[in-house]
This record gives sequence, structure tokens and C-alpha cells, in this order.
Amino acid sequence: MNRGKTAVIVGAQWGDEGKGKIVDVLTQTFSVVARYAGGHNAGHTVIIEGKRFVLQLVPGGILRPGCVNVIGNGVVFDPLAFLKEVATLREGGVKIDGNLFISNRAQVILPYHRMMELARGIGPAYEDKMGRRGLRVADLLDTTLLRTHIENAVREKNMIAHALFNSDPLDADKMFKEYSDAAQKIAPFVCDTALLLNQAIAAGKSVVFEGAQGTMLDIDHGTYPFVTSSSATSGGAVTGTGVPPTSIDTVIGITKAYCTRVGGGPFPTELLDEQGEDLRKRGNEFGAVTGRPRRTGWLDLPLLRYAGMINGISWLVVTKLDVLDHLREIPVCVGYKIDGKETIEVPAQACGYEKIECVYRKMPGWATPTSDIQTLEGLPKAAREYLAFIEKETGARVGMISTGPDRDQTILVPDFVSQLGLQLKSPAARA
Ligand code: GDP
Repeated sequence: MNRGKTAVIVGAQWGDEGKGKIVDVLTQTFSVVARYAGGHNAGHTVIIEGKRFVLQLVPGGILRPGCVNVIGNGVVFDPLAFLKEVATLREGGVKIDGNLFISNRAQVILPYHRMMELARGIGPAYEDKMGRRGLRVADLLDTTLLRTHIENAVREKNMIAHALFNSDPLDADKMFKEYSDAAQKIAPFVCDTALLLNQAIAAGKSVVFEGAQGTMLDIDHGTYPFVTSSSATSGGAVTGTGVPPTSIDTVIGITKAYCTRVGGGPFPTELLDEQGEDLRKRGNEFGAVTGRPRRTGWLDLPLLRYAGMINGISWLVVTKLDVLDHLREIPVCVGYKIDGKETIEVPAQACGYEKIECVYRKMPGWATPTSDIQTLEGLPKAAREYLAFIEKETGARVGMISTGPDRDQTILVPDFVSQLGLQLKSPAARA
């Protein structure tokens, strides 16, 4: 039996590239989807025949009957958020029964993590993981251990939170009751997912690995310290699931046709003018979970090349091409200059970005709608040239183009389909 095909999907920018939709399209042919990093702050929006699903912790394959979904060990897992998400999906008619698994080695987010961050507790949970004082899913199911862990942790965290924020103390008994109840409900989903995934691959099943956020938010390779707490790059797929690097066939990078970033930190091609506002409105650039407006800017090829190098991207998927449909001219950043000199290096320090001067090239726009176009040849010449320019400048091939939020607004490049041995059909052919 040949081993199954595997592909890692990474955000090639700062996240929100539309990975959710692309994973959804790929699940036509992949049997398993495995999440390898992040927590329930990663909001994917998938629209299927006009129906909107927001996925936070549950992998995108849940929307495709027959697809197996794995929450890997690299994820920080909030049991309450998980149960709520599963309930909402079930209410929306999604079948969840024997198609969703949680790693027994994933770290658990507890109320004191949320207390430390006043948000979802993702960062503090990763801190406890690295500090070797975290609670893992297997421990959550072990009632005696859970009680001791909660009692000890709550005592310590209450002292810290009182000193730092003057917070009201958390009640260990109440927490134990709530989490041991939740543990019972999640127990049927828990297993050794590294074993499950490696066995699935050995049995010829194809697996797609889905990260959270994007390359420039990776804890090591992003714009530190304006980053997330996990490994968002393709290496995270290995450590975050227990599937070895030798079992990864392809890395697919997702990039918007322009650029966005949430929150503070470097953003060389940012537009602070009306053009930026225009991209934000047309691209609906507001967080799926928080509604927070995203910062917007032109496509940044030096960063895409960097993402290509760090992740080993051989195929790119360009999303939101339609957002540029109205433009007569599209500036693209083709290089960085620091102190007047061109450089191919991306700064290690966040302050290093302040010195960057972007070199732009203006590409002709197509100024015509692309949302209903189903083939590469059907795209306007200027759009094809825009994509060809991205290929030339990054050395990666464009395998898929997304021209709207719906599953069907996707153009598949035949070489991508055949080289990956995918049994993907273009949406038009499926209809
Ligand atoms: P993710 O976290 O990378 O999946 O990205 P998000 O889900 O946060 O952001 C993608 C948003 O853009 C969602 O609202 C999608 O429905 C939408 N979207 C995805 N692809 C396209 C596209 O090609 N065109 C347009 N206009 N919207 C898209």
C-alpha cells in the first residue's frame, strides 16, 4: 500500500489569508484534516451555498461528510469553547460523530489563563506548556490528577493575579466541577492522534495539515515580539501533530492578492490612506471572531519570498483576487531598501522594519469582475499577468485562485491538480 499524500497549508502573510475556505476546497479529496497550532482565537469563515460557518477550534473538514478531523497536540485546547463550538455546529446541521479527534497531548486552557490575558488565554496556556506546568488533555481526563493540578495552580495563579491585577480569586472547587464535567463530555473525542495520523498515512489516506495565523506571526520566524505564541509555519505541522518531516509531501502557502495584518507590529506595505480603507471595505477586512478592523496594504513580495523559504512553499494559493477587480493600477512591493541599499534579508528586529523603504512596481489592473470566472484562461489578461508576476518573483507556482468567499468561487490550475495527484474537480465541472 502506498502511503497517503500529505500537504501542509500555511498562511504566507499575517494570517486571515482565507485558509479556511482553501482547506474546505481541498477536503473534496483529502481524507483527514489536522490542526497543528493555535487555539480558539483562530476564526475561519467558510461559506457553503450561502450558509456561513465560523470554525475556531474544529478543523475545516468537519463540513465535509466522510472527512476525519484532528485537533493536534500543538493546539491549546479550551474544553468549554470546544463544547460550545460543537453544539453550534450540530445546531447548524453538521454531523459530528466519529469524525473528530482531540490529541491526548494537547494543552488545556483553564480559567486562570483567561484571567492572565483577559482574553482567550492562548498565550498564558503556551507559557505554562513551555514552563512545564501545563495540564494536558490526558490529565484532564484523570480526575485525581485534575483536582490536584487545579488546586495547586489556582492557589498560585490567584496570588499572581491578585498582585498584578487585584483580581477576585478563582474558586478551585467550582473549577474542578466544571472541568471534570466537561472532561466527561470530551472523553469520547480523545485519543493518541499522532498514532491515528501516522496509521492513516500508512494506510494510504491523504492528510492536510492546517495551521493557524500566518508565517509572519510565527513565534520564531515572525515579526517578534508582535507574534503569536505558537509555530504557525510548516515546521509546526510536524511538532504539532507527531507526523515526521519525511511524511510531508507538499507545502501550500496561502496569500491574499494584497496584504492585511491584525494588531500592532511591522507592516511595510501598509496603506494608511483612503486606498487602505477601500481595500478594508471591499475585502471585508474585519476579524471573523472579534470584528476588529484589519490593517491593509499592497502585496509584499519580499515577505512572500521569505515565507517561501521558511516554509518550503512549492504551491501558492492566491485568495481575494476579486477585491482588486475595480483597480486600474495595482502597486506591488518588489523589494526592500535599507539605507538606500537593496536587501534580500528580512529584519530580525521589529524596529528594523522602520528603516525599510519599499520599492514598488505598478502592475496594470483588470478593472473587470472576476468572481464568476471558473478557469485560468477565463481570467482577464492583466489578472493572469499579475499571477504570473507573483510566480516569477517567488519561484512558487500558483495552484489555486480564489475569487470570492464561496466554495464555488475557486479556480483550480490543472497542473496543481495533476502534480499533487488530487482528485479535485473544478466547481463548474462538479455542478
Ligand atoms: P482564515 O483564518 O485564513 O481562514 O481567514 P478568515 O476566515 O479570517 O478570512 C477570510 C475571509 O475572507 C472570510 O470572511 C472568507 O469568507 C473570505 N474570503 C475567503 N476567500 C475569499 C475570496 O477569494 N474573496 C473574497 N471576497 N472573500 C474571501
